[in-house]
Amino acid sequence: MVKRFVLSMLMLLLVISTTTACSNANATKKNSDGKVNVTTTVGMITDIVKVVGGEHVNVVGLMGSGVDPHLYKASQGDIKKLDQADIIFYNGLHLEGKMVEIFERMAKKKPTVAVSDNIDRSSLRLGNEDMGTEYDPHIWFNVAHWMKATESVRDSLIEIDPAHKEVYEENAANYLKQLEELDNEVREKIASIPESGRVLVTAHDAFGYFGDAYDIRVMGLQGISTASEAGTKDLIDLRDYLVNNQIKAVFIESSVPRKAIDAVIQGASEKGHNVEIGGELFSDAMGEDGTPEGTYIGMVRHNVNTIVNALK
Ligand SMILES: [Zn+2]
Repeated sequence: MVKRFVLSMLMLLLVISTTTACSNANATKKNSDGKVNVTTTVGMITDIVKVVGGEHVNVVGLMGSGVDPHLYKASQGDIKKLDQADIIFYNGLHLEGKMVEIFERMAKKKPTVAVSDNIDRSSLRLGNEDMGTEYDPHIWFNVAHWMKATESVRDSLIEIDPAHKEVYEENAANYLKQLEELDNEVREKIASIPESGRVLVTAHDAFGYFGDAYDIRVMGLQGISTASEAGTKDLIDLRDYLVNNQIKAVFIESSVPRKAIDAVIQGASEKGHNVEIGGELFSDAMGEDGTPEGTYIGMVRHNVNTIVNALK
C-alpha cells in the first residue's frame, strides 16, 4: 500500500513537471529516455505512429481492438495518458465525438493533431447534420486519404523532434510506398467483382469513402455514427433492397453489434431470399495486436479479401 502511494506520488510529480515544462517549450520533446511520448486514439493512427516514429517514439493507443470510437468516453486513466504525452494524434471530423472538449483542452498545453486536418475539405464526404458531423470521419477507408494522414504524422513528428527528421522521412516514404501499392491492390480486387453484385451492405455507414474510391455501392444500416440507432423503416428498406436485387451477402463489423443486421437477414429469409453473412469486416477498429489484422494494411487487406470472396 505504502509502496503504491509513493509510486502514485512520483507519477504525480512527473505529471506536474512535464506539464510545467510544456508551457515554456512547446515544440521540443522532453522525456528522459530521449523518445517522444505519443498518445493516440484509434488503432489505425497508432499504427502510423509506430511505423513512422519507429524507435524514437513511445506510443500509447487509447482504443484497442473492437472498440467503437464514436461512443468512446475517456476514462481517468486515459486523461492521464493524454496528460503525459508530448504530442497527441487523433482522427478528428468528430470521429471521437465524446472527446472533442478534451482535445480542445489538451491543445492549449501541447501539440494536439487531427490527422484529417491536411485533407482537402472538397475531397471529404459530407456527414450527417443531425449528428453534428459535418463530414464523414471514416477517412482511412480511402487509402489515398490515409496517405495524407501519414504525411501529417510525419510532419508533426519532425516538428517536435527535428533531430530525427531523416529517420521519420525515410520511414514515412517506405510506408507511403506500401500504401500506394495497397491502394492499387484494393482497386483491382474490387473491380474483379461483377458489377451487378458489387454492393457492400454493412451494419453502419463507415464504408462511404471505400465505395467512392474503389467503385462499389455501399449501404449501411445505421448512419455515419453508431450513436444513431437503425429504425424499423431502415430495416425494411434494406430488406427489400436485398430481396429485389438478389444480393448474396451482407457483412458484420467487429466494433458494431450485429443485432440489426441479423434482423434484416431474417426478414429477407421470410420473403424467400437467402442472404449470407459474408464475414466480419474491421471498420472503426483494427484486429488484435500481433495478428495480421492488427495493422492498418492487414486490416484493409482482410476487408477486401472478405468482400471479394463473398460477392464474386
Ligand atoms: Zn464509424
